[in-house]
Amino acid sequence: MPFEALGLDPKIAKAVREAGYTEPTPIQTKAIPLVLRGSDVIGIAQTGTGKTAAFVLPILQRLSTKGSATNRRCMRALVIAPTRELVVQIEENARKYARHLHLRIATVYGGVGERPQIQALRAGTEIVIATPGRLIDLMDQGHVDFSGLEVAVLDEADRMLDMGFLPAMRRIVKALPKQRQTMMFSATLSKEIETLTNEFLVNAEIVQVGRRANPAETVAQFVYETTKEAKLPLLLHLLGDANLDSVLVFSRTKHGADKIARKLASSGINTATLHSNRSQSQRIAALKAFKAGTVRVLVATDIAARGIDVEGISHVVNFDFPPQPEDYVHRIGRTGRAKAIGDAISFVTPDDRANLRDLEQFISRGIPRKVAEGFDASAYKAVAPTMTSWRPSRPARPAAPRPQRPNTYASSRPASGSRPPAGGNGRTAVNSRPQFSDRTRRRP
Ligand code: AMP
Repeated sequence: MPFEALGLDPKIAKAVREAGYTEPTPIQTKAIPLVLRGSDVIGIAQTGTGKTAAFVLPILQRLSTKGSATNRRCMRALVIAPTRELVVQIEENARKYARHLHLRIATVYGGVGERPQIQALRAGTEIVIATPGRLIDLMDQGHVDFSGLEVAVLDEADRMLDMGFLPAMRRIVKALPKQRQTMMFSATLSKEIETLTNEFLVNAEIVQVGRRANPAETVAQFVYETTKEAKLPLLLHLLGDANLDSVLVFSRTKHGADKIARKLASSGINTATLHSNRSQSQRIAALKAFKAGTVRVLVATDIAARGIDVEGISHVVNFDFPPQPEDYVHRIGRTGRAKAIGDAISFVTPDDRANLRDLEQFISRGIPRKVAEGFDASAYKAVAPTMTSWRPSRPARPAAPRPQRPNTYASSRPASGSRPPAGGNGRTAVNSRPQFSDRTRRRP
């Protein structure tokens, strides 16, 4: 189905085609007509499903076809998102989709100077994308005028709740005109989210894509059982496979992320870090280098990596296994975004086993176990060896182009080829060198 069939303006549909999208994703097909009709919408969708375009495209349509009531340039659409990275990413997408329209877009987030943001707000900008904290700061200073606001979006509302933004969200929504269209997007429809929708939305239509907590189907998932001490050597070993060419590694802590990055860098692997101890400019530079492919491995913490969208991430590695199943789903949503494909690898120590069981129940499937051939975990028992002299057993990158990805994951899926029942462990030991899926690179 073409984008025009959803009722989108040809200028918007053209920009979307130029972005390389050939047809709408399921969340777009379901949500766009409702939003165009003016309904409040609750979107339950995983990351990577195309949910940003699902709300941005109809907003653009509304703003480009209807003049503001007062005919002055003012804030007409507000998008609230939990992190700076997500704000920047939504802005990038919005600019892409709005390239044939005459709309002004501004961002508001902390960690950078307030002045340019205040100037943009004062100059009058139709679309503002903001994190709650900085927006409240600017509201308190009297720089924000919501009087012409028509549409509000709360993106990744579940994460905003997790991050303690409920009071900020309430304050912001209270300051908005009562007469407005409101959308709320969340990966899961929890009790808390349902309560919030009753508070913020009116007669909302629910649009749900896929099962709750269902990781993108295009992501192949594996578990390596390991010890704490063997995790770094195992990561280096796996990175000996050149198919891991754009790897996002999740660490539980900032300190841990720095430590991993130092080890990888000292082994000759181009690595950057993304966590909240880094300045905003450092975070932007790290993401830029990772997107450009000059950095092969990005080591991040959950908060910083929230919502980041990098085309062509080949692998997500859960270096530290996430205690919350929802975090796992979000992390692995970084690969396999939209129709891309990717692998998600998790290191599981004896301490993580209970969390792994919970996760497998949560996603109603077992995750295949793999064994890294040629890697002797018992060599790294109690005391972690000094790693500086350790090198992966294979050269970092191949000279030859990679072969095409086979069209199934048969070799690494659970032996039955079907999902085990909820709670089953689907254990499959693939006793070979890690055979990661090849994929067609999407990065230019
Ligand atoms: P999101 O879930 O909004 O973070 O989007 C995930 C990724 O899917 C982004 O890289 C988008 O550029 C991409 N995307 C969004 N809509 C489509 C579409 N209709 N076809 C292909 N890719 C899309």
